[in-house]
Amino acid sequence: MKFMALAAVALAMVGCAEKDTKVTEYTCPTPYETVEVEQPAKGKQPKNIIFMIGDGMGLEHIATAWVANRGTLNMEKMPYVGLQRTYCLDWLVTDSAAAGTALATGEKTNKGQIATTPEGEDLQSMFVKAQEVGKRTGVVVVCRLNDATPATFCCHDMNRDEAESITADYLECGVDFIAGGGMNYWRDERTDGRDIFAEIGEKGYNTYDTAEALMTAEELPVAAVLAPLELPSALSGERGDMFRNMTSKALDLLNEDNKEGFVMMIEGSCIDDWLHANRVDAAVEEILDFDRVVGDVLKWAEKDGETLVVVTADHNTGAMTLLAGNIAEGSVVVDFANTGHNGAMVPFFAYGAGAEVFDGVIENSELSQKISAFIK
Ligand SMILES: [Zn+2]
Repeated sequence: MKFMALAAVALAMVGCAEKDTKVTEYTCPTPYETVEVEQPAKGKQPKNIIFMIGDGMGLEHIATAWVANRGTLNMEKMPYVGLQRTYCLDWLVTDSAAAGTALATGEKTNKGQIATTPEGEDLQSMFVKAQEVGKRTGVVVVCRLNDATPATFCCHDMNRDEAESITADYLECGVDFIAGGGMNYWRDERTDGRDIFAEIGEKGYNTYDTAEALMTAEELPVAAVLAPLELPSALSGERGDMFRNMTSKALDLLNEDNKEGFVMMIEGSCIDDWLHANRVDAAVEEILDFDRVVGDVLKWAEKDGETLVVVTADHNTGAMTLLAGNIAEGSVVVDFANTGHNGAMVPFFAYGAGAEVFDGVIENSELSQKISAFIK
């Protein structure tokens, strides 16, 4: 009996090993070239807004990714920089739901809430304002679409854990392009028997359930649910260019024959997951994958000339410290102070039309309000 119990424990450990083993040293094997972009003249009203969020990505994490990529990052090419405070109404240390609500709606709320006030009233995200003035909207993430950050832009709930009802909110929010994971909550493991993926198709969306199929999309609206939960990790090699391809497809379709412009949110969602696991290797590769997308977006915005790009984080995860490393070799040594979030400020970077208003030390809700002020 004792042997059986030990065997069961050993098996369980193998199953969880990937996220149970702390990794504090990493050398990135695949550094990439970063882009060069010209900042447009000041005083321009942006037609398009691309809001990019690295979940859990604090200053130390950016510094670590910079070393891993041999001393260069795309996000650092964005000329306007500031810091934002992430605390929520009822806690100093926020979660992604309350922080996402502040970034999406311009209003702070309590921990765990998806675009709702503490009293339970719905808060309207910048997507609603965009739709009111005739702009298109889009979301590209590498996590479940019902996860907190994307949900705060499109859905409402008092409880971030209500995965099935949050997913069903995508039927009502009128977003033009969504791509991410979470098919278990759209169709495959719902406990209420509904098939939200089929329902959104019946509402007129073109639906795709593989990244290859999404690349054939020719018109909006698009709903692409590409994995049971999260997309494959960047470290695994199975991600490939999936995140970049999802983003370029979104940009193509949102921009096509569009005089009014668009507002989209792109999230490097899984940076946070790997910081919770204290895995510097996987976290750095998630940041670098996100940063490659930042590079693509900056080149797109430069060519367009009427696009504002803002990159930030929702909060800092893992309290990671860069202890040592070698820029020429792309090697880093770090440590983590915890496996949760913390109350540190996080940076924001801005590029493109209107970018010059983004500076100083502000609240996360103010960052959202500054972006929303351009939606008209
Ligand atoms: Zn987290």
